[in-house]
Amino acid sequence: MWALGEPLLVDRAAERRDLADLASLHAVVVRNGSILAMDGRLAILAPAEQPSASLRVYLGVDAGRDVVALVPEDSAFGTDTDGIGGDGMIPLRALLGQLAQRGREGARDRELAATAVALTTWHANHPRCAVCGGQTEPIKGGWVRYCERDSREHYPRTDPAVIVAITDPEDRLLLAHASYWSPRRFSHLAGYVEPGESLEQAAHREVFEEARLRLRDLAYVGSQPWPFPASIMVGFTASVDSSEFVLDQDEISEAMFVSREEIVELVADGTVILAPHGSIARRLLEEWYGGPIDDATRAERITV
Ligand SMILES: [Zn+2]
Repeated sequence: MWALGEPLLVDRAAERRDLADLASLHAVVVRNGSILAMDGRLAILAPAEQPSASLRVYLGVDAGRDVVALVPEDSAFGTDTDGIGGDGMIPLRALLGQLAQRGREGARDRELAATAVALTTWHANHPRCAVCGGQTEPIKGGWVRYCERDSREHYPRTDPAVIVAITDPEDRLLLAHASYWSPRRFSHLAGYVEPGESLEQAAHREVFEEARLRLRDLAYVGSQPWPFPASIMVGFTASVDSSEFVLDQDEISEAMFVSREEIVELVADGTVILAPHGSIARRLLEEWYGGPIDDATRAERITV
């Protein structure tokens, strides 16, 4: 299990962002949110093996060497795969799922992959200054974009979202299906934190908006970077006094409280597809359940 409370495994070495010659460093290859993998693990290429780059971003020192995220100039580099244990450009969501089952090495790769995708997506989406509209250029190893026209610096943003595992008086767990999810996928209620509220207030508000439930005993569990495209998911548990809910059908099309026995049956007969391994949603689910839930390959194949 990924230790949410542990320090980073990769040294970000922020003091080297300005100094390193990015073109001479090892690289993780990233394109449109997919990452180059070999044998289901992150591929880290030596300079001589790298494609020509349109962007390099300094990630830090890993295993004694500096590593960058590299966006290839040629958009045709690599082959997209379905992400199951193969080689090629693998979508981050699928890669995170398979790395979650590879212990500490996998956790280190997850850090590099999540950071690489978060930063390169931010660069792709912020070519211009939000204030004056001037073109911006990456500086400080790609951790800042600078506008020459008005000398402003722009920083990558991280948008917090809350996710809450809710149990009823019979210790059944609420599973919900969001209208825009792929069929049969169920997970906890979640939503973005809005300006002017705390994480806890966001959890109370979102759950009330989506299901008209009032939470008790809201407790923080942990957080997880979730660069789809720029989130950090903040996980909570909470209980409710009554299992009566009223759904906001625009957002949540279906929900149910399930017992531990029921969830096993629903997964086994294919009625329910769970959140992928390695996600905080999965961790909240399995902490309630009391151990791993066997869903074979279903969870890894899910795309949201
Ligand atoms: Zn500007």
